[in-house]
Amino acid sequence: MNEQTLSPNRSGLVVGPLRADFGGQVLTAEDGEAYNGARMAFNAMFDRRPAVIARATCTADVVHALGFARATGLPVAVRGGGHSVAGYSTIEGGLLLDLGPMKAIDVDPEARLVRVQPGVVWGELDRATQQHGLATTGGRMTTTGVAGFTLGSGSGWLERLYGSACDNLLSAEVVTAAGTVVTASESENPDLLWGLRGGGGNFGIVTEFTLRLHPVGPGAYGGLLMYPRSQAPEVLRHVRDFLQSAPREVCGGVLCMFAPPAPFVPPALQGAPIVTVLAAYWGDVETGADALAPLKRLPPAVDLMGPTTYLDIQAITDPGNPPGRRNYWRSELLPDAPDELLDAFIACAAEATSPASTLILGRLGGAFGDVPEDATALGGRAAQWLFHCYAVWTKGDDRRHIAWARATEEALLPWTMTGMALNFMNDIDDTRVRATFGPEKYQRLRDLKRRWDPDNVFAMNQNIPPGS
Ligand SMILES: Cc1cc2nc3c(=O)[nH]c(=O)nc-3n(C[C@H](O)[C@H](O)[C@H](O)COP(=O)(O)OP(=O)(O)OC[C@H]3O[C@@H](n4cnc5c(N)ncnc54)[C@H](O)[C@@H]3O)c2cc1C
Repeated sequence: MNEQTLSPNRSGLVVGPLRADFGGQVLTAEDGEAYNGARMAFNAMFDRRPAVIARATCTADVVHALGFARATGLPVAVRGGGHSVAGYSTIEGGLLLDLGPMKAIDVDPEARLVRVQPGVVWGELDRATQQHGLATTGGRMTTTGVAGFTLGSGSGWLERLYGSACDNLLSAEVVTAAGTVVTASESENPDLLWGLRGGGGNFGIVTEFTLRLHPVGPGAYGGLLMYPRSQAPEVLRHVRDFLQSAPREVCGGVLCMFAPPAPFVPPALQGAPIVTVLAAYWGDVETGADALAPLKRLPPAVDLMGPTTYLDIQAITDPGNPPGRRNYWRSELLPDAPDELLDAFIACAAEATSPASTLILGRLGGAFGDVPEDATALGGRAAQWLFHCYAVWTKGDDRRHIAWARATEEALLPWTMTGMALNFMNDIDDTRVRATFGPEKYQRLRDLKRRWDPDNVFAMNQNIPPGS
């Protein structure tokens, strides 16, 4: 090692030993624009400055970077797609281990399996699997990472038919806190696989996921219907009644939002509060048209529902969710959606403090509920509905927008149940983690953490402290 590799950078950190044996980029503040670009996360609320960013290209890079963090005592944040709304995939003064360059996808159409590296985002994986008419439950935005999404639950448009993403996780290659590489599957370290299915990034760094695939598309029937917000009471009841009895091939929900300034929206409605119905049918396109026809019995102001493709449905919320805005989210599961809940939901939506904010009521049930409660770390299997309160803004007083999201959660609390996946919220403290998993699962997760990460090296996450 030459003298330069051993000299400290401006923050006093000697990064030479990391660079010396690392295949990817190693960036510090000295790298200017490259460093600034690499440190940004989806949620602009977390504008943090890591001491060093290591952009891994392979499992060996991950092992090496983790060893460097241990040797230097740097705290570690792990990044897949960078979408953590709670800011877990960025860190002030620590090591950001960015797995973004690890992009390999290997589809086995005969076995209906895909092996995928942790830098892959859903748009990339969906394109690769759809070439074979296959898919697995994936993110509702093309830029969400496969990694954090799957480990934290993975709720997508296919979940009523094929379960959550974590239910489709068959095995994983994992770099442990000790720097060893192990497999988690039903036959090897099944306890670890159980924890990876919903326990988040607590137990190790996954360097390869094997996911089950299913026949889907490429054609589909679905899309959006839009109504003025004044029609919200009848629209919500109509959609609730329809989705309540719809087959599991139908997914969907309603969004209280503001109409985009798009050419397909009549000028009088642009920027106005609206109710959007989003639904799709997975199967034959003609059958889908018949299955979703009852939704249109309430004539919409904008009808964007018709024959489409799986890939288009997967990208349908992309335009409304650009990176770089401030996000504060609260979400809960619901066993039922009675009229009183719908009225409270509409009243909360009317108080939204930003035109970018959205309140969503989505249908669960189906295959999501077929999985026994104890089979995975992810719970809440009895839920039939869920709500997401997304406060999103660019400028102004954070407190006002955060207060709206918190007040909405508070107002809807009487109709909720525990178990909501922690991927969907900010401000996750120990009480919230315990409540989500319930006392028995929480203890099981703590025991697992003690076995696989006794020193809590992986602490930038929905953290489970090691059991004593
Ligand atoms: C715009 C937007 C849309 C979303 N839509 C959905 C949706 O439809 N359904 C849904 O369920 N969720 C959704 N989410 C939430 C999403 O699932 C989580 O934010 C998830 O963490 C994103 O995964 P990522 O890889 O992009 O996250 P990152 O921010 O990269 O990672 C988040 C955390 O996951 C862990 N992690 C990531 N990669 C690894 C790895 N390889 N090994 C171990 N731990 C790892 C780490 O703890 C990391 O801090 C959405 C989020 C956003 C911002």
